Amino acid sequence: ADDPARWLESVAADEPGRPLLETAAGGVLSYGQMAALTRRLASCLASLQVAPGDRVVAQVEKSPEAVALYLACLQLGAVFVPLNTAYTFAELEYFLGDAAPTLAVVRPADRERIQQFAGRCGVKHVETLDEHGGGSLLQIETSTPAPSAQYHAPSALAALLYTSGTTGRSKGAMLTRANLASNALTLAQAWQFTRQDVLLHALPIFHVHGLFVAINTVLASGSSMLFLPKFDAEQVVRLLPRASVMMGVPTFYTRLLQHPALSRELVANMRLFVSGSAPLLAETHREFQSRTGHAILERYGMSETLMNTSNPYQGERIPGSVGPALPGVEVRIADPETGAVLTAPDAIGMIEVRGPNVFSGYWRMPEKTAAEFRPDGFFITGDLGKRDARGYVYIVGRGKDLIITGGYNVYPVEVELEIDALPAVIESAVIGVPHADFGEAVTAVVVAKQGAAFEEAAVRGALEQRLAKFKVPKRIVVVDELPRNTMGKVQKSALRERFRDLYR
Ligand code: ATP
Ligand code: MG
Repeated sequence: ADDPARWLESVAADEPGRPLLETAAGGVLSYGQMAALTRRLASCLASLQVAPGDRVVAQVEKSPEAVALYLACLQLGAVFVPLNTAYTFAELEYFLGDAAPTLAVVRPADRERIQQFAGRCGVKHVETLDEHGGGSLLQIETSTPAPSAQYHAPSALAALLYTSGTTGRSKGAMLTRANLASNALTLAQAWQFTRQDVLLHALPIFHVHGLFVAINTVLASGSSMLFLPKFDAEQVVRLLPRASVMMGVPTFYTRLLQHPALSRELVANMRLFVSGSAPLLAETHREFQSRTGHAILERYGMSETLMNTSNPYQGERIPGSVGPALPGVEVRIADPETGAVLTAPDAIGMIEVRGPNVFSGYWRMPEKTAAEFRPDGFFITGDLGKRDARGYVYIVGRGKDLIITGGYNVYPVEVELEIDALPAVIESAVIGVPHADFGEAVTAVVVAKQGAAFEEAAVRGALEQRLAKFKVPKRIVVVDELPRNTMGKVQKSALRERFRDLYR
Protein backbone atom coordinates (compact mmCIF):
# COMPACT_ATOMS: atom_id res chain seq x y z
CA ALA A 1 0.00 0.00 0.00
CA ASP A 2 2.23 2.65 -1.40
CA ASP A 3 0.57 6.04 -1.64
CA PRO A 4 1.21 9.76 -1.28
CA ALA A 5 -0.27 9.92 2.25
CA ARG A 6 2.12 7.17 3.35
CA TRP A 7 5.05 8.86 1.68
CA LEU A 8 4.21 11.97 3.69
CA GLU A 9 4.11 9.98 6.93
CA SER A 10 7.30 8.17 6.22
CA VAL A 11 9.32 11.33 5.51
CA ALA A 12 7.65 12.95 8.56
CA ALA A 13 8.74 10.04 10.76
CA ASP A 14 12.21 10.08 9.33
CA GLU A 15 12.88 13.80 9.27
CA PRO A 16 9.93 15.78 10.70
CA GLY A 17 11.58 19.17 10.29
CA ARG A 18 12.24 18.78 6.57
CA PRO A 19 10.38 21.60 4.76
CA LEU A 20 7.51 20.47 2.53
CA LEU A 21 6.21 23.79 1.37
CA GLU A 22 6.81 27.49 1.67
CA THR A 23 3.92 29.83 0.97
CA ALA A 24 4.09 33.17 -0.86
CA ALA A 25 3.96 34.92 2.51
CA GLY A 26 7.10 33.02 3.54
CA GLY A 27 5.52 30.61 6.02
CA VAL A 28 7.15 27.18 5.99
CA LEU A 29 5.28 23.94 6.65
CA SER A 30 7.45 20.92 7.42
CA TYR A 31 6.67 17.30 6.58
CA GLY A 32 5.94 16.75 10.28
CA GLN A 33 3.52 19.67 10.39
CA MET A 34 1.78 18.58 7.20
CA ALA A 35 1.43 15.07 8.58
CA ALA A 36 -0.12 16.47 11.79
CA LEU A 37 -2.47 18.73 9.79
CA THR A 38 -3.48 15.79 7.61
CA ARG A 39 -4.24 13.64 10.65
CA ARG A 40 -6.29 16.43 12.16
CA LEU A 41 -8.29 16.83 8.96
CA ALA A 42 -8.74 13.08 8.73
CA SER A 43 -10.29 13.08 12.17
CA CYS A 44 -12.54 16.05 11.20
CA LEU A 45 -13.73 14.00 8.23
CA ALA A 46 -14.18 10.91 10.38
CA SER A 47 -16.31 12.82 12.85
CA LEU A 48 -18.55 13.85 9.93
CA GLN A 49 -18.95 10.12 9.24
CA VAL A 50 -16.97 10.26 6.01
CA ALA A 51 -16.25 6.60 5.31
CA PRO A 52 -13.97 4.80 2.84
CA GLY A 53 -15.40 5.13 -0.67
CA ASP A 54 -17.37 8.29 0.19
CA ARG A 55 -16.73 11.27 -2.03
CA VAL A 56 -15.40 14.54 -0.65
CA VAL A 57 -15.78 17.47 -3.04
CA ALA A 58 -13.44 20.44 -2.65
CA GLN A 59 -14.04 23.72 -4.43
CA VAL A 60 -11.57 25.82 -2.49
CA GLU A 61 -8.68 28.21 -3.04
CA LYS A 62 -5.18 26.83 -3.23
CA SER A 63 -3.68 26.50 0.25
CA PRO A 64 -1.59 24.07 2.33
CA GLU A 65 -4.84 23.03 4.07
CA ALA A 66 -6.38 22.14 0.71
CA VAL A 67 -3.42 19.84 0.07
CA ALA A 68 -3.88 18.35 3.53
CA LEU A 69 -7.55 17.75 2.75
CA TYR A 70 -6.55 15.69 -0.29
CA LEU A 71 -4.07 13.70 1.79
CA ALA A 72 -6.60 13.21 4.60
CA CYS A 73 -8.99 11.67 2.06
CA LEU A 74 -6.27 9.29 0.95
CA GLN A 75 -5.57 8.39 4.55
CA LEU A 76 -9.23 7.66 5.27
CA GLY A 77 -9.88 5.92 1.96
CA ALA A 78 -12.37 8.62 0.96
CA VAL A 79 -12.49 9.69 -2.70
CA PHE A 80 -11.15 13.20 -3.27
CA VAL A 81 -13.03 15.27 -5.87
CA PRO A 82 -11.32 18.60 -6.62
CA LEU A 83 -13.30 21.14 -8.62
CA ASN A 84 -12.24 24.15 -10.64
CA THR A 85 -12.78 27.29 -8.56
CA ALA A 86 -14.17 29.02 -11.66
CA TYR A 87 -17.26 26.80 -11.79
CA THR A 88 -20.51 28.67 -11.26
CA PHE A 89 -23.25 27.56 -8.86
CA ALA A 90 -25.18 26.04 -11.76
CA GLU A 91 -22.14 24.00 -12.79
CA LEU A 92 -21.44 23.06 -9.19
CA GLU A 93 -24.97 21.75 -8.83
CA TYR A 94 -24.29 19.40 -11.72
CA PHE A 95 -21.01 18.17 -10.23
CA LEU A 96 -22.50 17.69 -6.76
CA GLY A 97 -25.42 15.78 -8.23
CA ASP A 98 -23.06 13.60 -10.25
CA ALA A 99 -20.47 12.90 -7.52
CA ALA A 100 -23.04 12.71 -4.68
CA PRO A 101 -20.43 13.47 -2.02
CA THR A 102 -20.92 12.99 1.70
CA LEU A 103 -19.08 16.24 2.26
CA ALA A 104 -18.56 19.36 0.15
CA VAL A 105 -15.85 21.77 1.24
CA VAL A 106 -16.37 25.22 -0.27
CA ARG A 107 -15.26 28.83 0.07
CA PRO A 108 -16.88 30.60 3.01
CA ALA A 109 -18.67 33.21 0.89
CA ASP A 110 -20.31 30.46 -1.22
CA ARG A 111 -21.68 28.33 1.57
CA GLU A 112 -25.13 29.83 1.88
CA ARG A 113 -25.91 29.62 -1.84
CA ILE A 114 -24.55 26.08 -2.09
CA GLN A 115 -26.56 24.91 0.87
CA GLN A 116 -29.72 25.78 -1.05
CA PHE A 117 -29.11 22.93 -3.53
CA ALA A 118 -26.59 20.68 -1.79
CA GLY A 119 -29.21 18.61 0.00
CA ARG A 120 -31.00 17.97 -3.28
CA CYS A 121 -27.73 16.58 -4.66
CA GLY A 122 -27.35 14.11 -1.80
CA VAL A 123 -24.65 16.10 0.01
CA LYS A 124 -24.77 15.51 3.77
CA HIS A 125 -22.43 18.24 4.97
CA VAL A 126 -21.22 21.54 3.59
CA GLU A 127 -18.15 22.92 5.36
CA THR A 128 -15.84 25.80 4.49
CA LEU A 129 -12.15 26.41 4.02
CA ASP A 130 -10.51 29.67 3.00
CA GLU A 131 -7.06 30.36 1.54
CA HIS A 132 -5.59 30.89 5.00
CA GLY A 133 -6.89 27.67 6.51
CA GLY A 134 -9.83 29.45 8.12
CA GLY A 135 -13.45 28.30 7.85
CA SER A 136 -15.65 25.73 9.54
CA LEU A 137 -13.86 22.54 8.49
CA LEU A 138 -10.88 22.88 10.76
CA GLN A 139 -13.07 24.05 13.62
CA ILE A 140 -14.95 20.78 13.89
CA GLU A 141 -14.60 19.33 17.38
CA THR A 142 -12.95 15.98 17.02
CA SER A 143 -13.16 13.27 19.56
CA THR A 144 -12.31 10.62 16.99
CA PRO A 145 -8.58 9.87 17.10
CA ALA A 146 -6.78 10.40 13.85
CA PRO A 147 -7.04 7.25 11.77
CA SER A 148 -3.52 7.19 10.39
CA ALA A 149 -1.87 4.69 8.06
CA GLN A 150 -4.74 2.32 7.43
CA TYR A 151 -4.54 -0.25 4.71
CA HIS A 152 -6.56 0.43 1.58
CA ALA A 153 -6.51 -1.80 -1.47
CA PRO A 154 -4.42 -0.42 -4.35
CA SER A 155 -7.43 -0.91 -6.62
CA ALA A 156 -9.64 1.27 -4.39
CA LEU A 157 -10.76 4.63 -5.74
CA ALA A 158 -8.59 7.52 -4.60
CA ALA A 159 -9.97 10.38 -6.62
CA LEU A 160 -12.62 11.38 -9.06
CA LEU A 161 -11.03 13.88 -11.37
CA TYR A 162 -13.33 15.76 -13.69
CA THR A 163 -11.83 16.35 -17.13
CA SER A 164 -11.36 19.96 -18.22
CA GLY A 165 -14.47 19.99 -20.38
CA THR A 166 -12.56 21.10 -23.48
CA THR A 167 -14.56 18.90 -25.84
CA GLY A 168 -17.89 18.71 -24.04
CA ARG A 169 -19.31 18.15 -20.60
CA SER A 170 -16.68 17.12 -18.02
CA LYS A 171 -16.53 13.44 -17.20
CA GLY A 172 -15.42 12.07 -13.83
CA ALA A 173 -12.30 9.95 -14.27
CA MET A 174 -12.04 7.28 -11.56
CA LEU A 175 -8.43 7.07 -10.41
CA THR A 176 -7.23 4.37 -8.06
CA ARG A 177 -4.55 4.55 -5.38
CA ALA A 178 -2.35 2.42 -7.62
CA ASN A 179 -2.81 4.86 -10.52
CA LEU A 180 -1.60 7.76 -8.38
CA ALA A 181 1.26 5.90 -6.76
CA SER A 182 2.68 4.24 -9.86
CA ASN A 183 2.64 7.43 -11.91
CA ALA A 184 4.29 9.53 -9.19
CA LEU A 185 7.06 6.97 -8.71
CA THR A 186 7.60 6.76 -12.46
CA LEU A 187 7.84 10.56 -12.78
CA ALA A 188 10.06 11.03 -9.73
CA GLN A 189 12.48 8.56 -11.28
CA ALA A 190 12.19 9.72 -14.90
CA TRP A 191 12.77 13.34 -13.91
CA GLN A 192 15.37 12.42 -11.27
CA PHE A 193 13.74 14.07 -8.28
CA THR A 194 15.70 13.96 -5.01
CA ARG A 195 15.16 15.34 -1.52
CA GLN A 196 17.26 18.34 -2.51
CA ASP A 197 14.77 19.51 -5.12
CA VAL A 198 12.64 22.62 -4.71
CA LEU A 199 9.63 22.70 -7.03
CA LEU A 200 8.20 26.08 -7.98
CA HIS A 201 4.46 25.33 -7.79
CA ALA A 202 2.28 27.97 -9.44
CA LEU A 203 -0.38 25.69 -10.98
CA PRO A 204 -3.94 25.27 -9.74
CA ILE A 205 -4.45 22.14 -7.64
CA PHE A 206 -7.80 21.03 -9.08
CA HIS A 207 -6.29 19.38 -12.16
CA VAL A 208 -3.99 16.45 -12.78
CA HIS A 209 -0.98 18.67 -13.47
CA GLY A 210 -0.84 20.73 -10.27
CA LEU A 211 -2.26 18.07 -7.97
CA PHE A 212 -1.01 14.67 -9.02
CA VAL A 213 1.99 15.38 -11.23
CA ALA A 214 3.40 18.12 -9.02
CA ILE A 215 2.43 17.28 -5.44
CA ASN A 216 2.64 13.49 -5.65
CA THR A 217 6.06 13.65 -7.30
CA VAL A 218 7.28 15.92 -4.50
CA LEU A 219 5.93 13.55 -1.84
CA ALA A 220 7.36 10.51 -3.60
CA SER A 221 10.82 12.05 -3.52
CA GLY A 222 10.70 13.90 -0.19
CA SER A 223 11.46 17.19 -1.92
CA SER A 224 9.88 20.57 -1.23
CA MET A 225 7.85 23.27 -2.93
CA LEU A 226 7.56 27.02 -3.22
CA PHE A 227 3.78 27.15 -3.19
CA LEU A 228 2.25 30.15 -4.97
CA PRO A 229 -1.49 30.86 -5.13
CA LYS A 230 -1.26 31.35 -8.89
CA PHE A 231 1.16 32.17 -11.68
CA ASP A 232 2.44 35.69 -11.38
CA ALA A 233 5.47 36.37 -13.60
CA GLU A 234 6.88 38.92 -11.16
CA GLN A 235 6.70 36.51 -8.23
CA VAL A 236 8.03 33.59 -10.25
CA VAL A 237 11.00 35.63 -11.42
CA ARG A 238 11.71 36.53 -7.79
CA LEU A 239 11.63 32.87 -6.69
CA LEU A 240 13.36 31.13 -9.61
CA PRO A 241 16.82 31.59 -8.07
CA ARG A 242 15.69 29.44 -5.13
CA ALA A 243 13.98 26.69 -7.13
CA SER A 244 15.41 23.69 -8.96
CA VAL A 245 12.34 22.53 -10.93
CA MET A 246 9.27 24.26 -12.35
CA MET A 247 6.17 22.66 -13.86
CA GLY A 248 4.00 24.84 -16.02
CA VAL A 249 1.47 25.14 -18.79
CA PRO A 250 2.76 26.71 -22.03
CA THR A 251 1.43 30.18 -21.14
CA PHE A 252 3.78 30.25 -18.12
CA TYR A 253 6.67 30.04 -20.54
CA THR A 254 5.37 32.58 -23.03
CA ARG A 255 4.79 35.00 -20.14
CA LEU A 256 8.23 34.41 -18.69
CA LEU A 257 9.71 35.11 -22.12
CA GLN A 258 8.02 38.51 -22.04
CA HIS A 259 9.76 39.31 -18.76
CA PRO A 260 13.00 41.25 -19.18
CA ALA A 261 14.60 39.58 -16.14
CA LEU A 262 14.55 36.08 -17.65
CA SER A 263 18.17 35.15 -18.24
CA ARG A 264 20.69 32.37 -17.76
CA GLU A 265 21.84 33.94 -14.49
CA LEU A 266 18.30 34.04 -13.10
CA VAL A 267 17.82 30.30 -13.60
CA ALA A 268 21.33 29.25 -12.59
CA ASN A 269 19.92 27.06 -9.79
CA MET A 270 17.29 25.40 -12.00
CA ARG A 271 17.78 21.90 -13.34
CA LEU A 272 14.43 21.27 -15.05
CA PHE A 273 11.48 23.06 -16.65
CA VAL A 274 8.48 20.86 -17.47
CA SER A 275 5.55 21.78 -19.73
CA GLY A 276 2.23 20.09 -20.37
CA SER A 277 -1.59 20.32 -20.44
CA ALA A 278 -1.57 22.01 -23.83
CA PRO A 279 0.80 22.06 -26.81
CA LEU A 280 4.01 24.00 -26.35
CA LEU A 281 4.92 25.81 -29.55
CA ALA A 282 8.27 24.71 -30.93
CA GLU A 283 9.08 28.39 -31.24
CA THR A 284 8.53 28.93 -27.50
CA HIS A 285 10.78 25.94 -26.82
CA ARG A 286 13.58 27.37 -28.95
CA GLU A 287 13.24 30.92 -27.66
CA PHE A 288 13.33 29.67 -24.06
CA GLN A 289 16.41 27.63 -24.78
CA SER A 290 18.27 30.52 -26.31
CA ARG A 291 17.35 32.85 -23.41
CA THR A 292 18.06 30.43 -20.55
CA GLY A 293 20.06 27.51 -21.89
CA HIS A 294 17.25 25.15 -20.81
CA ALA A 295 15.38 22.83 -23.16
CA ILE A 296 11.86 22.69 -21.74
CA LEU A 297 10.84 19.08 -21.12
CA GLU A 298 7.38 18.52 -22.61
CA ARG A 299 5.21 15.65 -21.48
CA TYR A 300 1.73 14.41 -22.31
CA GLY A 301 -1.03 13.16 -20.09
CA MET A 302 -4.67 13.53 -19.22
CA SER A 303 -7.11 13.20 -16.32
CA GLU A 304 -7.92 9.63 -17.32
CA THR A 305 -4.35 8.38 -17.55
CA LEU A 306 -2.09 10.72 -15.61
CA MET A 307 1.21 10.95 -17.55
CA ASN A 308 1.78 8.81 -20.64
CA THR A 309 4.84 10.16 -22.40
CA SER A 310 7.72 12.43 -21.55
CA ASN A 311 10.73 13.79 -23.33
CA PRO A 312 13.83 12.31 -21.71
CA TYR A 313 15.64 13.87 -18.78
CA GLN A 314 18.86 12.72 -20.33
CA GLY A 315 18.78 12.62 -24.09
CA GLU A 316 17.24 14.71 -26.79
CA ARG A 317 14.16 16.82 -25.97
CA ILE A 318 12.52 17.47 -29.30
CA PRO A 319 10.54 20.70 -29.71
CA GLY A 320 7.00 19.88 -30.85
CA SER A 321 7.19 16.29 -29.55
CA VAL A 322 5.82 15.01 -26.23
CA GLY A 323 8.52 12.34 -26.10
CA PRO A 324 8.47 8.55 -25.88
CA ALA A 325 6.21 6.47 -23.64
CA LEU A 326 7.14 6.56 -19.95
CA PRO A 327 8.49 3.32 -18.45
CA GLY A 328 5.64 0.87 -17.82
CA VAL A 329 3.27 2.71 -20.16
CA GLU A 330 2.41 1.23 -23.55
CA VAL A 331 1.50 3.69 -26.29
CA ARG A 332 0.28 2.74 -29.74
CA ILE A 333 -1.21 4.45 -32.75
CA ALA A 334 -4.38 2.93 -34.21
CA ASP A 335 -6.79 3.54 -37.01
CA PRO A 336 -9.52 5.65 -35.37
CA GLU A 337 -12.32 3.83 -37.21
CA THR A 338 -11.23 0.19 -37.21
CA GLY A 339 -8.84 0.15 -34.26
CA ALA A 340 -6.21 -1.59 -36.41
CA VAL A 341 -2.79 -0.90 -34.95
CA LEU A 342 -0.60 1.24 -37.21
CA THR A 343 3.00 0.20 -36.86
CA ALA A 344 4.60 2.26 -39.62
CA PRO A 345 6.63 5.18 -38.25
CA ASP A 346 4.91 8.56 -38.61
CA ALA A 347 1.50 7.06 -39.44
CA ILE A 348 -1.17 9.37 -38.01
CA GLY A 349 -3.92 7.81 -35.96
CA MET A 350 -5.58 7.58 -32.56
CA ILE A 351 -3.24 7.50 -29.58
CA GLU A 352 -4.10 4.55 -27.34
CA VAL A 353 -2.48 3.75 -24.00
CA ARG A 354 -2.31 0.93 -21.48
CA GLY A 355 -0.53 0.68 -18.15
CA PRO A 356 -0.77 1.02 -14.38
CA ASN A 357 -1.47 4.73 -14.86
CA VAL A 358 -4.73 4.20 -16.77
CA PHE A 359 -7.96 4.93 -14.89
CA SER A 360 -10.65 2.40 -14.13
CA GLY A 361 -13.47 4.12 -15.98
CA TYR A 362 -15.79 7.11 -16.09
CA TRP A 363 -17.86 7.64 -12.97
CA ARG A 364 -21.41 6.45 -13.51
CA MET A 365 -20.92 6.17 -17.29
CA PRO A 366 -20.54 2.44 -17.99
CA GLU A 367 -21.43 2.75 -21.69
CA LYS A 368 -18.99 5.59 -22.25
CA THR A 369 -16.31 3.62 -20.38
CA ALA A 370 -16.92 0.53 -22.50
CA ALA A 371 -16.78 2.57 -25.69
CA GLU A 372 -13.41 4.14 -24.84
CA PHE A 373 -11.50 0.92 -24.16
CA ARG A 374 -10.35 -1.65 -26.73
CA PRO A 375 -10.96 -5.30 -25.85
CA ASP A 376 -7.25 -5.74 -25.01
CA GLY A 377 -7.40 -2.99 -22.38
CA PHE A 378 -5.97 -0.07 -24.32
CA PHE A 379 -7.66 3.25 -23.58
CA ILE A 380 -8.64 5.37 -26.57
CA THR A 381 -7.33 8.81 -25.62
CA GLY A 382 -9.24 10.87 -28.18
CA ASP A 383 -5.97 12.52 -29.22
CA LEU A 384 -4.58 12.00 -32.70
CA GLY A 385 -0.88 11.63 -33.15
CA LYS A 386 2.04 9.83 -34.68
CA ARG A 387 5.19 8.18 -33.48
CA ASP A 388 8.51 8.48 -35.24
CA ALA A 389 11.05 5.72 -35.78
CA ARG A 390 12.71 6.55 -32.44
CA GLY A 391 9.46 6.24 -30.49
CA TYR A 392 8.88 9.98 -29.98
CA VAL A 393 5.18 10.84 -30.00
CA TYR A 394 3.76 13.92 -31.71
CA ILE A 395 0.21 15.09 -31.04
CA VAL A 396 -1.56 16.42 -34.11
CA GLY A 397 -4.82 17.42 -32.47
CA ARG A 398 -7.87 15.96 -30.85
CA GLY A 399 -10.04 13.50 -32.70
CA LYS A 400 -12.95 15.86 -32.19
CA ASP A 401 -11.02 18.70 -33.81
CA LEU A 402 -10.15 16.76 -36.95
CA ILE A 403 -11.52 18.59 -39.98
CA ILE A 404 -13.07 16.67 -42.84
CA THR A 405 -13.31 18.94 -45.83
CA GLY A 406 -14.56 17.68 -49.18
CA GLY A 407 -13.73 14.16 -48.01
CA TYR A 408 -10.15 14.98 -47.00
CA ASN A 409 -8.79 14.82 -43.44
CA VAL A 410 -7.05 17.94 -42.24
CA TYR A 411 -5.10 17.87 -38.98
CA PRO A 412 -5.35 21.34 -37.47
CA VAL A 413 -1.84 21.36 -36.02
CA GLU A 414 -0.22 21.03 -39.42
CA VAL A 415 -1.99 24.16 -40.65
CA GLU A 416 -1.47 26.03 -37.38
CA LEU A 417 2.28 25.43 -37.54
CA GLU A 418 2.46 27.00 -41.00
CA ILE A 419 0.36 29.99 -39.96
CA ASP A 420 2.31 30.52 -36.75
CA ALA A 421 5.53 30.63 -38.75
CA LEU A 422 4.32 33.73 -40.64
CA PRO A 423 5.96 36.93 -39.42
CA ALA A 424 2.69 38.80 -38.75
CA VAL A 425 1.22 36.05 -36.56
CA ILE A 426 1.44 35.43 -32.81
CA GLU A 427 -0.70 32.32 -32.70
CA SER A 428 -3.60 30.61 -34.40
CA ALA A 429 -6.33 28.02 -34.05
CA VAL A 430 -7.60 26.10 -37.05
CA ILE A 431 -11.15 24.76 -36.92
CA GLY A 432 -13.75 23.20 -39.17
CA VAL A 433 -16.80 25.35 -39.85
CA PRO A 434 -19.96 24.04 -41.58
CA HIS A 435 -19.89 24.71 -45.29
CA ALA A 436 -22.50 23.85 -47.91
CA ASP A 437 -20.02 22.47 -50.48
CA PHE A 438 -17.20 21.07 -48.38
CA GLY A 439 -19.11 19.80 -45.38
CA GLU A 440 -16.57 21.59 -43.25
CA ALA A 441 -14.36 24.45 -44.36
CA VAL A 442 -10.86 24.78 -42.94
CA THR A 443 -10.98 28.08 -41.07
CA ALA A 444 -8.17 29.88 -39.27
CA VAL A 445 -8.60 32.14 -36.29
CA VAL A 446 -5.47 34.22 -35.88
CA VAL A 447 -3.97 36.59 -33.33
CA ALA A 448 -1.84 39.05 -35.30
CA LYS A 449 1.21 40.91 -34.02
CA GLN A 450 0.53 44.50 -33.07
CA GLY A 451 1.02 46.87 -35.93
CA ALA A 452 1.77 44.03 -38.35
CA ALA A 453 0.16 44.26 -41.75
CA PHE A 454 -2.22 41.32 -41.99
CA GLU A 455 -3.91 40.83 -45.29
CA GLU A 456 -6.09 37.77 -45.64
CA ALA A 457 -5.53 37.21 -49.35
CA ALA A 458 -1.77 37.58 -49.03
CA VAL A 459 -1.64 35.16 -46.14
CA ARG A 460 -3.69 32.60 -48.06
CA GLY A 461 -1.33 33.08 -50.97
CA ALA A 462 1.66 32.42 -48.72
CA LEU A 463 0.03 29.29 -47.31
CA GLU A 464 -0.75 27.97 -50.78
CA GLN A 465 3.01 27.80 -51.37
CA ARG A 466 3.36 25.53 -48.34
CA LEU A 467 0.21 23.42 -48.03
CA ALA A 468 -1.95 21.29 -50.30
CA LYS A 469 -4.86 23.36 -51.55
CA PHE A 470 -7.48 21.50 -49.49
CA LYS A 471 -5.61 22.35 -46.29
CA VAL A 472 -5.44 26.08 -46.94
CA PRO A 473 -8.02 27.93 -44.83
CA LYS A 474 -11.00 29.19 -46.79
CA ARG A 475 -11.16 32.13 -44.42
CA ILE A 476 -8.70 33.62 -41.95
CA VAL A 477 -10.27 35.70 -39.22
CA VAL A 478 -8.25 37.94 -36.93
CA VAL A 479 -9.17 38.14 -33.24
CA ASP A 480 -7.60 39.91 -30.25
CA GLU A 481 -7.04 36.69 -28.34
CA LEU A 482 -7.95 33.01 -28.43
CA PRO A 483 -10.44 31.78 -25.82
CA ARG A 484 -8.55 29.70 -23.25
CA ASN A 485 -9.51 27.91 -20.07
CA THR A 486 -7.52 28.01 -16.83
CA MET A 487 -5.09 25.37 -18.06
CA GLY A 488 -4.25 27.39 -21.14
CA LYS A 489 -6.18 25.10 -23.48
CA VAL A 490 -7.69 26.78 -26.53
CA GLN A 491 -11.47 26.33 -26.47
CA LYS A 492 -12.02 25.27 -30.06
CA SER A 493 -15.65 24.41 -29.39
CA ALA A 494 -16.22 28.06 -28.41
CA LEU A 495 -14.58 29.15 -31.67
CA ARG A 496 -16.68 26.74 -33.73
CA GLU A 497 -19.76 28.13 -32.06
CA ARG A 498 -18.72 31.72 -32.64
CA PHE A 499 -17.97 31.25 -36.33
CA ARG A 500 -20.58 28.66 -37.21
CA ASP A 501 -22.39 31.02 -39.62
CA LEU A 502 -19.25 32.23 -41.37
CA TYR A 503 -20.13 30.48 -44.64
CA ARG A 504 -23.89 30.84 -44.50
P1 ATP B 1 -12.34 16.97 -21.89
O1 ATP B 1 -11.83 15.56 -21.85
O2 ATP B 1 -13.40 17.23 -20.88
O3 ATP B 1 -12.72 17.43 -23.27
P2 ATP B 1 -9.56 17.78 -21.59
O4 ATP B 1 -9.25 16.60 -22.45
O5 ATP B 1 -8.95 19.09 -21.98
O6 ATP B 1 -11.14 17.97 -21.45
P3 ATP B 1 -7.77 17.08 -19.44
O7 ATP B 1 -7.84 15.67 -19.04
O8 ATP B 1 -7.49 18.11 -18.40
O9 ATP B 1 -9.14 17.48 -20.09
O10 ATP B 1 -6.67 17.30 -20.56
C1 ATP B 1 -6.07 16.24 -21.27
C2 ATP B 1 -5.79 16.67 -22.69
O11 ATP B 1 -4.87 17.77 -22.73
C3 ATP B 1 -5.14 15.60 -23.52
O12 ATP B 1 -6.08 14.65 -23.99
C4 ATP B 1 -4.49 16.42 -24.63
O13 ATP B 1 -5.44 16.72 -25.65
C5 ATP B 1 -4.11 17.70 -23.93
N1 ATP B 1 -2.67 17.72 -23.60
C6 ATP B 1 -2.06 17.41 -22.44
N2 ATP B 1 -0.73 17.54 -22.53
C7 ATP B 1 -0.48 17.96 -23.79
C8 ATP B 1 0.70 18.31 -24.52
N3 ATP B 1 1.89 18.26 -23.96
N4 ATP B 1 0.55 18.69 -25.81
C9 ATP B 1 -0.67 18.75 -26.39
N5 ATP B 1 -1.80 18.45 -25.76
C10 ATP B 1 -1.72 18.07 -24.48
MG1 MG C 1 -10.13 14.73 -22.54
